[in-house]
Amino acid sequence: MKIKYYGTAAAEGFPGMFCSCEVCEKARALGGRNIRTRSQTLIDGKLLIDFSADTYMHVINYGLDLRKVEAVLITHSHDDHLYPPDFLYRKPGYAYFPDLPDGKPTAVPIYSSHITGEAVRHLIADTELDECGAFRWEKLSPYKPAKVLDYTVTALEANHAKQLDPFIYIIQKGDSTLFYGHDSGYYSQRVWDYLETAKPYFNFVSLDCTGILQPYRDGHMGVEACSDVRERFLALGVADEKTVFCLHHFSHNGGLVHDDLVPLAHAQGFRVSYDTAEYEF
Ligand SMILES: [Zn+2]
Ligand SMILES: [Zn+2]
Ligand SMILES: [Zn+2]
Repeated sequence: MKIKYYGTAAAEGFPGMFCSCEVCEKARALGGRNIRTRSQTLIDGKLLIDFSADTYMHVINYGLDLRKVEAVLITHSHDDHLYPPDFLYRKPGYAYFPDLPDGKPTAVPIYSSHITGEAVRHLIADTELDECGAFRWEKLSPYKPAKVLDYTVTALEANHAKQLDPFIYIIQKGDSTLFYGHDSGYYSQRVWDYLETAKPYFNFVSLDCTGILQPYRDGHMGVEACSDVRERFLALGVADEKTVFCLHHFSHNGGLVHDDLVPLAHAQGFRVSYDTAEYEF
């Protein structure tokens, strides 16, 4: 499996779009990997995770090819993860499909919890996106493995904005398994019980590190809570020394730009995601 991160910032972007704090000024001055856009990740070029307001920016600046996306998983409806209005532009007239039989597209499925999918369902109903073959919506339920393309996707409850019914995901294909933990604080007992019983083995673990140096544990995490998750995954046997642990989804409130975070993260066994970072496992 291949994972490519397109957006690795928390909601306000990094630097924050209206912010003049020391960390944002340093990110602006350094540029490169210190500049982060809003959350989006692509699996094997075809399974997209989240659809932020920066999606179009990822298309034109980072080479994200939405024409090859066959399914979309949404974690939750915060607008740094879900910006439904842009789904409209796969509608014939806004998009043409000369290579398809009769030029007709097949609706790309969008998967999420019922609550997360509310705005998507309204948009589909109001603009007939399903009838014209642009998009359709599919419900996922927590702890029930579902077939998405040729992957087995298991949604787990995130510790994050509970009223939105947010999900984190286990994505498995053959002997490759990804744990995608965004957005979430330290996991609930139900998640730990599930991991202990189901005993998956993760090749790659992507952890919410919004707080970096801050002691965040509820809603989001910092490096300290991510270290606790890593140790518990190793103790449970769902990960081992071959597992890649990668930190992701960073806020300027965490106090460190990418260049300053990397040495600290490496010393604790973590990689650090950046926009366009790619890993194969
Ligand atoms: Zn977020
Ligand atoms: Zn700032
Ligand atoms: Zn969020």
